[in-house]
Amino acid sequence: MPELPEVETTRRGLAPLLVGKRVRTAVVRHPMLRQPVPRNLPKLLAGATIHHLARRGKYLLFDCGKGTLILHLGMSGRLWVVKSATPPDKHDHFDLVMENDIVVRLRDPRRFGLILWTTGDPLRHPLLAAIGPEPLAPEFDGETLYRAIHHRSAAIKQVLMDSHVVAGVGNIYANEALFRSGINPRTPARRIGPERCRLLAKNIRKTLESAIVAGGSSLRDYVGSDGLAGNFQSQFMVYGRAGQPCRRCGVNIREIRQGQRSTYYCPQCQK
Ligand SMILES: [Zn+2]
Repeated sequence: MPELPEVETTRRGLAPLLVGKRVRTAVVRHPMLRQPVPRNLPKLLAGATIHHLARRGKYLLFDCGKGTLILHLGMSGRLWVVKSATPPDKHDHFDLVMENDIVVRLRDPRRFGLILWTTGDPLRHPLLAAIGPEPLAPEFDGETLYRAIHHRSAAIKQVLMDSHVVAGVGNIYANEALFRSGINPRTPARRIGPERCRLLAKNIRKTLESAIVAGGSSLRDYVGSDGLAGNFQSQFMVYGRAGQPCRRCGVNIREIRQGQRSTYYCPQCQK
C-alpha cells in the first residue's frame, strides 16, 4: 500500500513536469473507483493550468486555479508518467494528458483509489478536513503529539496509525519510529509522557524523511515503480524482520498482531 513517503516522492517527481503546464484533456476509462469519478472531469480539466501540486496526508492536490483535482492512490494505485501514445493496461483507469505530451496515468488494480474535483478549499473537503497534523510540517512536535495522545488508552502503535492523530503514518513507519524511540508498541498511549513524545515525534519525522530520501534517489523509477519507497526497505530495523536479530542488540525481533496488522519490535530495545 502506498504510504506517505511514496506519495511525497511521487509529488516531488511529478511537480517539475506538471506545474505551470496546461492540461490537454483527461481520460476516464473506469468511472468507478472507491467513489465515482466525476463524469464531467475531462471538460473541467481541458485547458486548465496546474498551478501547484500539493500533498495533504496521502492525498495529492492538483491545484488548477478554478478547482482542485484530489487524488488518492488507495490500496494499490500508482502514478506513471508515459508518452501519450503508450497503450493503456487493463488497470490503467485514468489519464491526465498534458499539452507537453506527457501523460500521468493512474494504474489501480484494486480500485480503492479516489479521483475527485472540488471548487472549494480542498483542505476543507470532508475527506481531508479531519486529518491530523502533517508529520513533516514544522509545527508537528512533541507537544502536538502529547496533546493528541495523552488521553488515549489504546496501544501507541494503533494510536499512531490513526490519521486524526497524525497524518499518514502507516504500519511500516509506525513500527520503525517506535523502534527508533525505544517504545514498546503495546504501551498504552496515555503512559507516554511529554519527554518520550518529543523523541517519538522527532523519530516519526526522521523515519519518513529517510524513506523519502531513499525514494528520491530512484525518483525516475519511482513515478512508475513498485510500492515501497526506493531503497528504504534495506534500512528497516524491525519491519518484516520477525525472528531475525535486532540490528542494535542481537535479540530476535518479535511479531505480534495489533488491530489486524503485523507489529514488529525488539523486546530488549523497546520497553
Ligand atoms: Zn534490540
